[in-house]
Amino acid sequence: MTRKIRGVSVLVATVLAAAAPGRGPIPDDVPLVLTRLGLELQVDYGQATVGGTATLQLRNGSDRPVTQIPLLLNRLMTVSRVRAASGADLPFGQQIVVFQDDSVRQVNAVVVTSPRPIPPGDSLAIVVHYRGILVGYTETGSLYIQDHVSRDFTIIREDAYAFPMLGVPSWRVNRTIIRDPFAFAARVTVPSGLVVAMGGVPGGRVQADSLTTWSYRSTDPVPFLNITIAPYRVIESPAARIHYFPADSAGAQMVERAVSGALERYAQWFGPLGRAPQLAVMEIPEGFGSQASLTAGILQTADAFRDRAELQQLYHEISHLWNVPDLERPSPRWNEGLATFLQWRMAADLDGWAEWEPQLGRSVQSLLRRCAPPQPCSDTPFAGYGKAGLTGRSYVVGMLMFHALHQVLGADAFDRVYRDFYQRYWRTGATSADLVAAFRAANPASDRIFADWFFTARWYTRLAAGESLRQMVEAYKRP
Ligand SMILES: [Zn+2]
Repeated sequence: MTRKIRGVSVLVATVLAAAAPGRGPIPDDVPLVLTRLGLELQVDYGQATVGGTATLQLRNGSDRPVTQIPLLLNRLMTVSRVRAASGADLPFGQQIVVFQDDSVRQVNAVVVTSPRPIPPGDSLAIVVHYRGILVGYTETGSLYIQDHVSRDFTIIREDAYAFPMLGVPSWRVNRTIIRDPFAFAARVTVPSGLVVAMGGVPGGRVQADSLTTWSYRSTDPVPFLNITIAPYRVIESPAARIHYFPADSAGAQMVERAVSGALERYAQWFGPLGRAPQLAVMEIPEGFGSQASLTAGILQTADAFRDRAELQQLYHEISHLWNVPDLERPSPRWNEGLATFLQWRMAADLDGWAEWEPQLGRSVQSLLRRCAPPQPCSDTPFAGYGKAGLTGRSYVVGMLMFHALHQVLGADAFDRVYRDFYQRYWRTGATSADLVAAFRAANPASDRIFADWFFTARWYTRLAAGESLRQMVEAYKRP
Protein backbone atom coordinates (compact mmCIF):
# COMPACT_ATOMS: atom_id res chain seq x y z
CA MET A 1 0.00 0.00 0.00
CA THR A 2 1.34 3.39 -0.91
CA ARG A 3 0.07 6.69 0.30
CA LYS A 4 0.35 9.60 -2.02
CA ILE A 5 1.04 12.85 -0.30
CA ARG A 6 1.37 16.22 -1.97
CA GLY A 7 4.95 17.31 -2.49
CA VAL A 8 6.22 13.83 -3.22
CA SER A 9 8.27 13.86 -6.36
CA VAL A 10 8.78 10.95 -8.72
CA LEU A 11 12.41 10.86 -7.63
CA VAL A 12 11.43 10.37 -4.02
CA ALA A 13 8.88 7.73 -4.87
CA THR A 14 11.76 5.84 -6.45
CA VAL A 15 13.89 6.28 -3.36
CA LEU A 16 11.11 4.93 -1.18
CA ALA A 17 10.50 1.99 -3.46
CA ALA A 18 14.16 1.15 -3.07
CA ALA A 19 13.85 1.44 0.69
CA ALA A 20 10.76 -0.70 1.02
CA PRO A 21 11.06 -4.36 1.94
CA GLY A 22 10.04 -6.65 -0.86
CA ARG A 23 10.88 -4.06 -3.46
CA GLY A 24 14.61 -3.89 -3.09
CA PRO A 25 17.28 -3.62 -0.49
CA ILE A 26 16.72 -1.29 2.42
CA PRO A 27 19.78 0.75 3.50
CA ASP A 28 22.39 -1.33 5.26
CA ASP A 29 23.05 1.39 7.77
CA VAL A 30 21.53 4.60 9.03
CA PRO A 31 24.56 6.79 9.67
CA LEU A 32 22.60 9.66 11.24
CA VAL A 33 22.54 10.43 14.95
CA LEU A 34 19.62 12.18 16.67
CA THR A 35 21.00 15.03 18.78
CA ARG A 36 17.82 16.93 19.63
CA LEU A 37 14.10 16.18 19.47
CA GLY A 38 11.46 18.92 19.58
CA LEU A 39 7.81 17.89 19.89
CA GLU A 40 4.71 20.10 19.54
CA LEU A 41 1.83 17.69 20.00
CA GLN A 42 -1.91 17.76 20.48
CA VAL A 43 -3.80 14.81 21.88
CA ASP A 44 -7.38 14.57 20.61
CA TYR A 45 -9.37 12.37 22.99
CA GLY A 46 -12.48 12.37 20.79
CA GLN A 47 -10.59 11.08 17.74
CA ALA A 48 -8.05 9.04 19.78
CA THR A 49 -5.27 10.72 17.79
CA VAL A 50 -1.87 12.21 18.50
CA GLY A 51 -0.34 14.68 16.09
CA GLY A 52 1.58 17.86 15.53
CA THR A 53 5.20 18.38 14.63
CA ALA A 54 8.42 16.61 15.49
CA THR A 55 11.66 18.49 14.86
CA LEU A 56 14.64 16.20 14.57
CA GLN A 57 18.15 17.59 14.72
CA LEU A 58 20.35 15.01 13.01
CA ARG A 59 24.10 14.70 12.65
CA ASN A 60 25.85 12.71 9.97
CA GLY A 61 28.03 10.41 12.05
CA SER A 62 29.63 8.70 9.06
CA ASP A 63 32.52 9.58 6.77
CA ARG A 64 30.42 9.93 3.62
CA PRO A 65 27.68 12.35 2.54
CA VAL A 66 24.10 11.32 3.37
CA THR A 67 20.97 12.27 1.44
CA GLN A 68 18.23 9.94 2.65
CA ILE A 69 16.69 10.30 6.11
CA PRO A 70 14.67 7.16 6.96
CA LEU A 71 12.11 7.43 9.77
CA LEU A 72 9.62 5.07 11.39
CA LEU A 73 6.15 6.04 12.56
CA ASN A 74 3.11 4.25 14.02
CA ARG A 75 1.24 2.26 11.39
CA LEU A 76 -1.92 4.38 11.76
CA MET A 77 -0.08 7.70 11.59
CA THR A 78 0.50 9.73 8.45
CA VAL A 79 3.05 12.37 7.58
CA SER A 80 1.45 15.35 5.84
CA ARG A 81 4.50 17.54 5.31
CA VAL A 82 8.23 17.72 6.00
CA ARG A 83 10.08 21.03 6.19
CA ALA A 84 13.68 22.12 6.52
CA ALA A 85 14.60 24.52 9.33
CA SER A 86 14.36 27.31 6.70
CA GLY A 87 10.69 26.47 6.17
CA ALA A 88 11.23 25.00 2.70
CA ASP A 89 9.28 21.84 1.93
CA LEU A 90 11.33 18.66 1.67
CA PRO A 91 10.36 15.77 -0.58
CA PHE A 92 9.44 12.56 1.19
CA GLY A 93 7.72 9.25 0.69
CA GLN A 94 5.87 6.99 3.10
CA GLN A 95 4.56 3.49 2.97
CA ILE A 96 2.95 1.06 5.39
CA VAL A 97 5.23 -1.98 5.50
CA VAL A 98 6.13 -4.89 7.74
CA PHE A 99 9.63 -5.32 9.10
CA GLN A 100 11.94 -7.36 6.90
CA ASP A 101 12.86 -9.56 9.87
CA ASP A 102 9.68 -9.25 11.98
CA SER A 103 6.62 -10.06 9.92
CA VAL A 104 4.07 -8.89 12.51
CA ARG A 105 5.63 -5.46 13.04
CA GLN A 106 3.86 -3.01 10.78
CA VAL A 107 5.04 0.58 10.54
CA ASN A 108 4.81 3.65 8.39
CA ALA A 109 8.28 3.77 6.81
CA VAL A 110 9.08 7.34 5.83
CA VAL A 111 12.05 8.48 3.75
CA VAL A 112 12.87 12.19 3.62
CA THR A 113 15.33 13.46 1.04
CA SER A 114 17.71 16.21 1.98
CA PRO A 115 17.97 18.94 -0.70
CA ARG A 116 21.75 18.71 -0.45
CA PRO A 117 23.90 15.83 0.72
CA ILE A 118 24.70 16.22 4.43
CA PRO A 119 28.53 16.22 4.68
CA PRO A 120 30.19 14.02 7.30
CA GLY A 121 29.97 15.61 10.74
CA ASP A 122 27.38 18.17 9.63
CA SER A 123 23.88 18.54 11.06
CA LEU A 124 20.45 19.11 9.61
CA ALA A 125 17.08 19.82 11.23
CA ILE A 126 13.84 18.56 9.73
CA VAL A 127 10.30 19.33 10.87
CA VAL A 128 7.87 16.45 10.38
CA HIS A 129 4.12 17.21 10.42
CA TYR A 130 2.14 14.10 11.28
CA ARG A 131 -1.04 12.84 12.88
CA GLY A 132 -2.98 9.67 13.39
CA ILE A 133 -4.58 7.20 15.74
CA LEU A 134 -2.21 5.92 18.39
CA VAL A 135 -2.32 2.13 18.50
CA GLY A 136 -0.24 -0.35 20.48
CA TYR A 137 1.97 -3.19 19.31
CA THR A 138 0.83 -6.12 21.48
CA GLU A 139 0.57 -8.36 18.40
CA THR A 140 4.37 -8.22 18.08
CA GLY A 141 4.67 -10.08 21.38
CA SER A 142 5.57 -6.90 23.27
CA LEU A 143 2.48 -7.12 25.47
CA TYR A 144 3.42 -3.95 27.35
CA ILE A 145 2.91 -1.76 24.27
CA GLN A 146 -0.83 -1.33 24.85
CA ASP A 147 -0.54 2.35 23.97
CA HIS A 148 -3.75 4.16 23.03
CA VAL A 149 -5.38 7.49 23.73
CA SER A 150 -7.52 7.33 26.87
CA ARG A 151 -8.47 9.90 29.48
CA ASP A 152 -7.40 7.48 32.21
CA PHE A 153 -3.89 7.12 30.87
CA THR A 154 -2.05 7.88 27.66
CA ILE A 155 1.62 7.26 26.96
CA ILE A 156 3.53 8.73 24.03
CA ARG A 157 6.78 6.86 23.43
CA GLU A 158 9.04 5.49 20.76
CA ASP A 159 8.04 1.90 21.57
CA ALA A 160 4.75 2.49 19.69
CA TYR A 161 6.41 4.83 17.15
CA ALA A 162 4.19 7.63 18.50
CA PHE A 163 6.61 10.19 17.06
CA PRO A 164 8.99 9.79 14.11
CA MET A 165 12.40 8.43 14.98
CA LEU A 166 15.36 7.32 12.85
CA GLY A 167 14.99 3.80 11.58
CA VAL A 168 14.15 1.44 8.77
CA PRO A 169 11.85 -1.60 8.85
CA SER A 170 14.68 -3.96 9.82
CA TRP A 171 15.92 -4.87 13.30
CA ARG A 172 19.23 -5.91 11.80
CA VAL A 173 19.84 -2.42 10.44
CA ASN A 174 18.28 -0.54 13.34
CA ARG A 175 20.67 -2.21 15.78
CA THR A 176 23.53 -0.45 13.99
CA ILE A 177 22.08 3.04 14.57
CA ILE A 178 24.16 5.05 17.00
CA ARG A 179 21.86 6.05 19.83
CA ASP A 180 23.48 8.77 21.84
CA PRO A 181 21.45 10.51 24.52
CA PHE A 182 19.68 13.52 23.00
CA ALA A 183 18.30 16.85 24.15
CA PHE A 184 14.55 17.46 23.99
CA ALA A 185 11.92 20.15 24.25
CA ALA A 186 8.26 19.17 24.20
CA ARG A 187 4.96 21.07 24.26
CA VAL A 188 1.89 18.88 24.62
CA THR A 189 -1.70 20.16 24.49
CA VAL A 190 -4.41 18.19 26.30
CA PRO A 191 -7.83 18.95 27.79
CA SER A 192 -7.52 20.98 30.99
CA GLY A 193 -7.72 18.73 34.01
CA LEU A 194 -5.25 16.23 32.60
CA VAL A 195 -1.60 16.43 33.61
CA VAL A 196 1.31 15.87 31.21
CA ALA A 197 4.47 14.37 32.75
CA MET A 198 7.94 13.56 31.45
CA GLY A 199 11.59 13.89 32.44
CA GLY A 200 13.58 17.10 32.18
CA VAL A 201 12.28 20.29 33.78
CA PRO A 202 8.83 21.85 33.44
CA GLY A 203 8.69 25.09 31.48
CA GLY A 204 5.25 26.16 32.64
CA ARG A 205 1.81 25.68 31.17
CA VAL A 206 -0.60 27.82 29.21
CA GLN A 207 -4.37 27.46 29.26
CA ALA A 208 -6.58 28.49 26.34
CA ASP A 209 -10.28 27.69 26.29
CA SER A 210 -10.62 24.16 27.60
CA LEU A 211 -7.08 23.10 26.63
CA THR A 212 -3.78 23.29 28.47
CA THR A 213 -0.34 23.19 26.86
CA TRP A 214 2.41 21.74 29.02
CA SER A 215 6.08 22.50 28.28
CA TYR A 216 9.16 20.57 29.32
CA ARG A 217 12.79 20.56 28.25
CA SER A 218 15.81 18.48 29.07
CA THR A 219 18.61 19.81 31.25
CA ASP A 220 20.79 16.81 30.42
CA PRO A 221 20.53 14.50 27.42
CA VAL A 222 18.02 11.65 27.68
CA PRO A 223 18.36 8.07 26.40
CA PHE A 224 14.64 7.98 25.46
CA LEU A 225 11.54 10.11 25.85
CA ASN A 226 8.37 8.88 27.57
CA ILE A 227 5.44 11.28 27.88
CA THR A 228 2.61 10.22 30.16
CA ILE A 229 -0.78 11.91 30.48
CA ALA A 230 -3.36 11.15 33.16
CA PRO A 231 -5.55 12.88 35.74
CA TYR A 232 -2.41 12.78 37.88
CA ARG A 233 -1.91 14.27 41.28
CA VAL A 234 1.60 15.56 41.90
CA ILE A 235 3.89 15.71 44.91
CA GLU A 236 6.62 18.24 44.29
CA SER A 237 9.71 18.49 46.41
CA PRO A 238 12.88 20.41 45.58
CA ALA A 239 14.48 17.18 44.30
CA ALA A 240 11.60 15.33 42.69
CA ARG A 241 8.17 15.45 41.05
CA ILE A 242 6.04 12.41 41.69
CA HIS A 243 3.02 11.96 39.41
CA TYR A 244 0.50 9.46 40.77
CA PHE A 245 -3.01 8.22 40.16
CA PRO A 246 -5.54 9.66 42.62
CA ALA A 247 -6.16 6.22 44.15
CA ASP A 248 -2.50 5.78 45.09
CA SER A 249 -1.75 8.70 47.37
CA ALA A 250 -0.40 6.40 50.11
CA GLY A 251 2.00 4.82 47.62
CA ALA A 252 3.07 8.25 46.42
CA GLN A 253 3.92 9.30 49.98
CA MET A 254 6.02 6.16 50.35
CA VAL A 255 7.83 6.87 47.08
CA GLU A 256 8.45 10.48 48.14
CA ARG A 257 9.92 9.37 51.47
CA ALA A 258 12.09 6.83 49.66
CA VAL A 259 13.43 9.48 47.27
CA SER A 260 14.27 11.94 50.02
CA GLY A 261 15.66 9.22 52.30
CA ALA A 262 17.93 7.88 49.56
CA LEU A 263 19.15 11.33 48.56
CA GLU A 264 20.04 12.02 52.17
CA ARG A 265 21.82 8.70 52.69
CA TYR A 266 23.83 8.86 49.45
CA ALA A 267 24.92 12.38 50.41
CA GLN A 268 26.13 11.01 53.75
CA TRP A 269 28.13 8.33 51.95
CA PHE A 270 29.48 10.24 48.97
CA GLY A 271 29.17 13.91 49.88
CA PRO A 272 27.06 16.67 48.36
CA LEU A 273 25.96 16.57 44.74
CA GLY A 274 27.60 18.88 42.26
CA ARG A 275 24.20 19.88 40.94
CA ALA A 276 20.69 19.84 42.36
CA PRO A 277 18.75 16.75 41.22
CA GLN A 278 15.58 16.94 39.12
CA LEU A 279 13.87 13.59 39.34
CA ALA A 280 10.54 12.74 37.71
CA VAL A 281 8.54 9.69 38.74
CA MET A 282 5.44 8.76 36.71
CA GLU A 283 2.97 6.10 37.81
CA ILE A 284 1.69 3.95 34.94
CA PRO A 285 -0.95 1.19 34.93
CA GLU A 286 0.17 -2.38 35.54
CA GLY A 287 1.38 -4.11 32.41
CA PHE A 288 2.61 -0.99 30.61
CA GLY A 289 6.28 -1.77 31.29
CA SER A 290 8.46 0.22 33.66
CA GLN A 291 11.51 2.02 32.41
CA ALA A 292 13.85 4.28 34.28
CA SER A 293 16.34 6.99 33.59
CA LEU A 294 17.61 9.77 35.77
CA THR A 295 17.14 12.36 33.05
CA ALA A 296 14.13 10.93 31.19
CA GLY A 297 12.14 10.00 34.28
CA ILE A 298 11.13 6.85 36.06
CA LEU A 299 8.03 4.95 34.95
CA GLN A 300 6.77 2.90 37.88
CA THR A 301 3.82 0.57 37.48
CA ALA A 302 0.94 0.93 39.91
CA ASP A 303 1.74 -2.36 41.68
CA ALA A 304 5.32 -1.17 42.26
CA PHE A 305 3.93 2.06 43.68
CA ARG A 306 2.29 0.05 46.45
CA ASP A 307 5.20 -2.24 47.32
CA ARG A 308 8.29 -1.26 49.33
CA ALA A 309 10.21 -4.16 47.81
CA GLU A 310 10.04 -2.39 44.45
CA LEU A 311 11.80 0.74 45.66
CA GLN A 312 15.25 -0.52 44.71
CA GLN A 313 14.65 0.58 41.13
CA LEU A 314 14.38 4.12 42.48
CA TYR A 315 17.48 3.66 44.61
CA HIS A 316 19.35 2.45 41.52
CA GLU A 317 18.44 5.54 39.50
CA ILE A 318 19.06 7.96 42.34
CA SER A 319 22.54 6.51 42.85
CA HIS A 320 23.36 7.51 39.26
CA LEU A 321 23.25 11.13 40.44
CA TRP A 322 26.59 10.37 42.11
CA ASN A 323 28.20 9.21 38.84
CA VAL A 324 30.91 11.29 37.24
CA PRO A 325 30.74 11.79 33.45
CA ASP A 326 32.06 8.65 31.81
CA LEU A 327 34.93 9.56 29.46
CA GLU A 328 35.36 6.09 27.97
CA ARG A 329 34.15 5.36 24.42
CA PRO A 330 32.85 2.72 24.21
CA SER A 331 32.38 2.41 27.93
CA PRO A 332 32.20 -0.84 29.90
CA ARG A 333 29.58 1.02 31.96
CA TRP A 334 30.85 0.06 35.39
CA ASN A 335 28.50 2.78 36.68
CA GLU A 336 25.68 0.26 36.16
CA GLY A 337 27.44 -2.28 38.34
CA LEU A 338 27.90 0.33 41.04
CA ALA A 339 24.24 1.40 40.81
CA THR A 340 23.10 -2.23 41.05
CA PHE A 341 25.26 -2.76 44.13
CA LEU A 342 24.00 0.48 45.69
CA GLN A 343 20.33 -0.27 45.02
CA TRP A 344 20.50 -3.34 47.27
CA ARG A 345 22.71 -1.64 49.82
CA MET A 346 20.21 1.23 50.07
CA ALA A 347 17.26 -1.19 50.40
CA ALA A 348 19.10 -2.90 53.25
CA ASP A 349 19.89 0.43 54.86
CA LEU A 350 16.54 2.20 54.53
CA ASP A 351 14.02 -0.64 54.38
CA GLY A 352 15.67 -3.36 56.44
CA TRP A 353 15.96 -5.56 53.36
CA ALA A 354 17.84 -8.65 54.56
CA GLU A 355 18.15 -10.79 51.44
CA TRP A 356 21.79 -10.11 50.56
CA GLU A 357 22.97 -13.70 50.76
CA PRO A 358 20.17 -15.21 48.63
CA GLN A 359 20.46 -12.28 46.20
CA LEU A 360 24.22 -12.83 45.79
CA GLY A 361 23.63 -16.55 45.35
CA ARG A 362 21.04 -15.97 42.65
CA SER A 363 23.33 -13.47 40.90
CA VAL A 364 26.25 -15.93 40.86
CA GLN A 365 24.03 -18.75 39.58
CA SER A 366 22.52 -16.60 36.84
CA LEU A 367 25.98 -15.48 35.68
CA LEU A 368 27.30 -19.04 35.64
CA ARG A 369 24.32 -20.00 33.50
CA ARG A 370 24.43 -17.02 31.15
CA CYS A 371 28.21 -16.94 30.76
CA ALA A 372 28.82 -20.65 30.23
CA PRO A 373 31.20 -21.13 27.27
CA PRO A 374 30.96 -20.43 24.39
CA GLN A 375 29.18 -17.29 25.69
CA PRO A 376 31.63 -14.40 25.22
CA CYS A 377 31.29 -13.25 28.85
CA SER A 378 33.02 -16.47 29.96
CA ASP A 379 36.35 -14.99 28.86
CA THR A 380 35.78 -11.30 27.98
CA PRO A 381 37.07 -8.99 30.71
CA PHE A 382 34.53 -6.51 32.10
CA ALA A 383 36.91 -3.72 30.96
CA GLY A 384 36.17 -4.79 27.37
CA TYR A 385 32.37 -5.04 27.65
CA GLY A 386 31.87 -1.75 25.78
CA LYS A 387 33.83 -2.88 22.76
CA ALA A 388 32.32 -6.38 22.89
CA GLY A 389 28.73 -5.15 23.12
CA LEU A 390 28.34 -6.93 26.47
CA THR A 391 27.28 -4.03 28.69
CA GLY A 392 24.11 -5.95 29.55
CA ARG A 393 26.42 -7.98 31.83
CA SER A 394 27.91 -4.87 33.50
CA TYR A 395 25.04 -4.72 35.97
CA VAL A 396 25.55 -8.05 37.72
CA VAL A 397 29.30 -8.59 37.16
CA GLY A 398 29.85 -5.01 38.33
CA MET A 399 27.53 -5.46 41.30
CA LEU A 400 29.59 -8.45 42.48
CA MET A 401 32.84 -6.54 41.93
CA PHE A 402 31.68 -3.58 44.00
CA HIS A 403 30.28 -5.94 46.62
CA ALA A 404 33.76 -7.52 46.90
CA LEU A 405 35.41 -4.09 47.18
CA HIS A 406 32.89 -3.08 49.85
CA GLN A 407 33.53 -6.29 51.81
CA VAL A 408 37.30 -6.07 51.61
CA LEU A 409 37.72 -2.36 52.28
CA GLY A 410 34.84 -2.00 54.74
CA ALA A 411 32.03 0.54 54.40
CA ASP A 412 33.99 3.51 55.74
CA ALA A 413 37.00 3.13 53.44
CA PHE A 414 34.77 2.22 50.46
CA ASP A 415 32.67 5.35 50.95
CA ARG A 416 35.72 7.55 51.47
CA VAL A 417 37.34 6.31 48.24
CA TYR A 418 34.20 6.80 46.17
CA ARG A 419 33.40 10.14 47.84
CA ASP A 420 36.86 11.47 46.98
CA PHE A 421 36.54 10.08 43.45
CA TYR A 422 33.13 11.68 42.90
CA GLN A 423 34.08 15.02 44.43
CA ARG A 424 37.30 15.14 42.39
CA TYR A 425 35.82 14.19 39.01
CA TRP A 426 32.15 15.23 38.88
CA ARG A 427 32.97 18.27 36.76
CA THR A 428 35.63 16.83 34.48
CA GLY A 429 34.62 13.20 34.16
CA ALA A 430 36.86 10.16 34.57
CA THR A 431 37.72 6.77 33.13
CA SER A 432 37.73 3.34 34.73
CA ALA A 433 41.52 3.72 35.07
CA ASP A 434 40.89 6.68 37.39
CA LEU A 435 38.47 4.59 39.45
CA VAL A 436 40.89 1.67 39.70
CA ALA A 437 43.70 4.06 40.72
CA ALA A 438 41.52 5.59 43.45
CA PHE A 439 40.74 2.20 45.04
CA ARG A 440 44.30 0.99 44.61
CA ALA A 441 45.67 4.01 46.45
CA ALA A 442 43.36 3.29 49.39
CA ASN A 443 43.99 -0.44 49.68
CA PRO A 444 46.30 -2.58 47.53
CA ALA A 445 43.94 -5.55 48.03
CA SER A 446 41.66 -3.80 45.51
CA ASP A 447 44.20 -4.78 42.86
CA ARG A 448 43.39 -8.46 43.30
CA ILE A 449 39.68 -7.72 42.94
CA PHE A 450 40.09 -5.66 39.78
CA ALA A 451 42.44 -8.32 38.38
CA ASP A 452 39.75 -11.00 38.76
CA TRP A 453 36.64 -8.93 38.01
CA PHE A 454 37.68 -6.15 35.66
CA PHE A 455 40.90 -6.85 33.78
CA THR A 456 40.29 -10.57 33.27
CA ALA A 457 37.28 -12.88 33.37
CA ARG A 458 38.96 -14.96 36.08
CA TRP A 459 35.86 -14.43 38.24
CA TYR A 460 34.09 -16.80 35.87
CA THR A 461 36.83 -19.44 35.96
CA ARG A 462 36.97 -19.37 39.76
CA LEU A 463 33.22 -19.51 40.29
CA ALA A 464 32.79 -22.16 37.61
CA ALA A 465 35.50 -24.24 39.32
CA GLY A 466 33.33 -24.31 42.42
CA GLU A 467 34.86 -21.56 44.54
CA SER A 468 32.20 -19.55 46.37
CA LEU A 469 31.95 -15.78 46.25
CA ARG A 470 32.53 -15.73 50.00
CA GLN A 471 35.74 -17.76 49.64
CA MET A 472 36.94 -15.37 46.96
CA VAL A 473 36.25 -12.35 49.18
CA GLU A 474 38.08 -13.97 52.13
CA ALA A 475 41.08 -14.61 49.86
CA TYR A 476 41.15 -10.96 48.74
CA LYS A 477 41.33 -9.90 52.38
CA ARG A 478 44.49 -11.93 53.04
CA PRO A 479 47.69 -10.00 52.36
ZN1 LIG B 1 21.37 2.23 35.77
